[in-house]
Amino acid sequence: MAALRVGVVKEVATGERRVALTPDVVVKLKDAGLEILVQAGAGAGAWFPDERYEQAGATIVDGTKLYADADVLLAVGLPDTAQLRSGQTVVALLQPLLNAELMAQLAQQGVTAVSLDGLPRTLTRAQGMDALSSQANVAGYKAVLVAADSFHRFFPLLITAAGTSRPAEVLVLGAGVAGLQAIGTAKRLGAIVRGYDVRPASREEVKSLGGQFVELTSVESGAGEGGYARALSPEEQAAQQAELTDHIVKHDIVITTAQVPGRRPPLMVTKDAVARMKAGSVILDMAASDLGGNVEISRPGETFVTDNGVTVIGAGTLPSLMATSASNAYSRNISALLLHLVSDGALAIDQLITDSDEIAAGVVVTHGGSVVQPATAALLEKESAP
Ligand code: NAD
Repeated sequence: MAALRVGVVKEVATGERRVALTPDVVVKLKDAGLEILVQAGAGAGAWFPDERYEQAGATIVDGTKLYADADVLLAVGLPDTAQLRSGQTVVALLQPLLNAELMAQLAQQGVTAVSLDGLPRTLTRAQGMDALSSQANVAGYKAVLVAADSFHRFFPLLITAAGTSRPAEVLVLGAGVAGLQAIGTAKRLGAIVRGYDVRPASREEVKSLGGQFVELTSVESGAGEGGYARALSPEEQAAQQAELTDHIVKHDIVITTAQVPGRRPPLMVTKDAVARMKAGSVILDMAASDLGGNVEISRPGETFVTDNGVTVIGAGTLPSLMATSASNAYSRNISALLLHLVSDGALAIDQLITDSDEIAAGVVVTHGGSVVQPATAALLEKESAP
């Protein structure tokens, strides 16, 4: 039987520097009996030149050959879907709920779409495949460095002959994977760090990293399903914003990371709160998106200074700014998932579905000409209803 051909695409999104598979992991997949094709220049943005892939045993090919020859394509974001063909499998972070129409189109094309963001994250055996966590971890770290770069003061308490500099005060809103990494990173830089999350379980996690937990009295527990937050009612959200504003204005740097699955990110920092912050303060909105973010006036990928001297940073793709570490982690995640989907050198998705495998049930979005992931199928049905 011919070896399964796995293709590593050169990412197509503007500014995306990550690569789905790093040379170290090529060796591991080759050992598992897979053949690896790499699109020329795929790793360059993350500082993995083609020669490193060749040394690891991969074959460098151009894009046309890659899309034509590979049985499975590995990518970070959406690859060039126009070049995909029937019988091919693509594994990436496809965000099927935001790209439901495209998923329906891939199903029609006979493409099997596998998306890492559908992984059941609390499953112990899936943790090594959890790309959302690995990339959020990178993003949380980089968020602090980006904010620090726009902040014109030291982070730590410094006592020098030229005087004493008081420590920066950092507030992190949303203490999930990214927020906790941001808290730890700001703490290591010497700042006084406070964290807040609507899930009560995060209180101990914030404290364990040396942060102080901000208690709000206006909002009850916002714990939702599967360890995620629930969406707050408009009244709760207004009360939260009002109470948070008094904390926000006392901080030098505010980093926001709050997300609610399948919803617009919650609005936590109002225009009024920004207007009341001190000149020289910095806000970084990790949730900034075209749908809106945690900060009323942030715009994704843009940085600007308000009339009252507050730098507002709408984070773009933070993991891409740490492309090497992000790719190393992603590569381990995607290869672990791929090896889970392979049995005896071939893809075993049909068998895994028959066996009700929880991982396959979460990640396989399209297969056999249909959209099979329940949440995406339900969304498409709702959209097509009269
Ligand atoms: P996320 O990206 O969905 O959201 C980030 C944070 O924003 C969350 O902590 C959430 O509670 C918070 N948030 C949402 N709305 C808010 C609001 N109005 N006010 C304040 N905070 C708000 O979350 P995530 O980082 O992907 O993690 C979500 C959960 O999943 C966490 O409980 C995390 O510990 C858990 N998790 C578990 C595993 C595992 O078990 N292996 C892996 C990853 C994540």
